[in-house]
Amino acid sequence: MDAPAPLARVVPRADHSISRSQISPNALRVLYRLKDAGFQGFLVGGCVRDLLIGRAPKDFDVATNALPEEVKRLFRNCRLIGRRFRLAHVFFGSEIIEVATFRAASAPAQGEEPLADLDPEEGEGPELSEPDEFDADVADTQGEDSHVLDEHGRILRDNAYGTIDDDVWRRDFSANALYYNIADFSIWDYVGGLEDVRARRLRVIGDPETRFREDPVRMLRAARFAAKLDFAIDPPALAAIRSCANLLASAPPARLFDETLKLFLAGHGAQSFAVLRSLGLLAVLLPSVEAYFSKHPASLVEQLLLRGLENTDARVREGRSVTPTYLFALLLYGPIAAAIEALPPNRWHEAGAILDACDAAIRELSARVALPRRFALGVREMFALQPRLEQPRGRRALRLLEHPRFRAAYDLLLLRAGLGLAAPEMAAWWTQLQAAAPEERGRLADAVAAGSSRGAGASRRPRRRRRSGGAKPAA
Ligand code: ATP
Ligand code: MG
Repeated sequence: MDAPAPLARVVPRADHSISRSQISPNALRVLYRLKDAGFQGFLVGGCVRDLLIGRAPKDFDVATNALPEEVKRLFRNCRLIGRRFRLAHVFFGSEIIEVATFRAASAPAQGEEPLADLDPEEGEGPELSEPDEFDADVADTQGEDSHVLDEHGRILRDNAYGTIDDDVWRRDFSANALYYNIADFSIWDYVGGLEDVRARRLRVIGDPETRFREDPVRMLRAARFAAKLDFAIDPPALAAIRSCANLLASAPPARLFDETLKLFLAGHGAQSFAVLRSLGLLAVLLPSVEAYFSKHPASLVEQLLLRGLENTDARVREGRSVTPTYLFALLLYGPIAAAIEALPPNRWHEAGAILDACDAAIRELSARVALPRRFALGVREMFALQPRLEQPRGRRALRLLEHPRFRAAYDLLLLRAGLGLAAPEMAAWWTQLQAAAPEERGRLADAVAAGSSRGAGASRRPRRRRRSGGAKPAA
């Protein structure tokens, strides 16, 4: 194997805590096969960081000096992906080991012309399972230049392979730039990452402002790692976030959708919300949400969002599924409520008014975050179902149980009822109905219908309770 690069501090196996028993057997297989074929093989990024702090890594990423085509030749179960930069995905059942060839650094080069039009926006947002790839925002460009920046200093093109010495400098934070060498199980640290991990500190590699200008999404990544790992963002990076936050507005909306899911659907959503707000990033990522909360401080809607995010975090921890539809219904609750309440009160329960409010909120959102259509439709359905859940009409209500969005809408009703934004007795009725045997369901539906014919209970317009600072959407 190659001798350690002189630039790195090489920490031998005896002096660090990562043992092979903590590493995915499939990742080890990939690393050993690379090594046996005469290539370098390193674990890199979040997995090394997580192992050092005793967390189970989300996935294991491999870096190598083998070219993507060479990786492909080594593994039958391998696919090359990526339009701009080729990455190898090696498949083992449901586990994917991502193998990236070392790339050259992304330091700005002199004399390069702005080429902003090389950054066309993508269409539909990526799926949750989209591979974690650098600069996913940049479309394929076939140019010869290895490195091109736009007028804000953002990287538009970056297509030169390099050595591990080059590769390290393009990484975002020192904690994410540690390499575990399969040749001798040592850790290579070029940037003081080990010390930063130990101190639970997020330090940008290089000048923070330059690095955030190159790729403003790194600011969201800082917020995400701070929330997820309970790391402190170091002061120079904090200062750079303050001065660069607005640049996030120029990031492609499809990529911001992807990042939003990583922030809020990975088990630390409530904490992400707090961190984003305190860094001033929520105001750029979700301006309508921030505007609602700053206009209505300590509102019931904010409590609803926080409770919803906490519930979502608990679901993730329990290994249950979570959906972007529910998340965006929570995030947009304030803006949707505000749009509905701008109408005269007699229209607050109209389906048309509710759908218009949803559409307006989603349109505003999409200036920053591209919500794929199927999720946008889901959000509309969740809100349109609220008055139907609050005023069930006899046996016809039973059909709502089969509605594909029933469960999400019911969860939202529970949250609302818990805060006095909907009648708690109706939420309880739906809970009872779902638990009931089929024969009993009809009886419950008849009872609610009878109640409504006497003009009592279920079919009355839900009371609207004025609470200071809290908007209560009709939905
Ligand atoms: P996670 O636990 O969320 O997987 P991670 O650190 O592995 O965290 P990834 O998004 O999987 O994050 O990226 C893998 C590695 O690639 C990072 O650790 C970092 O070194 C590098 N990286 C990813 N995105 C960027 C970026 N936008 N700028 C610089 N480096 C990046
Ligand atoms: Mg990762």
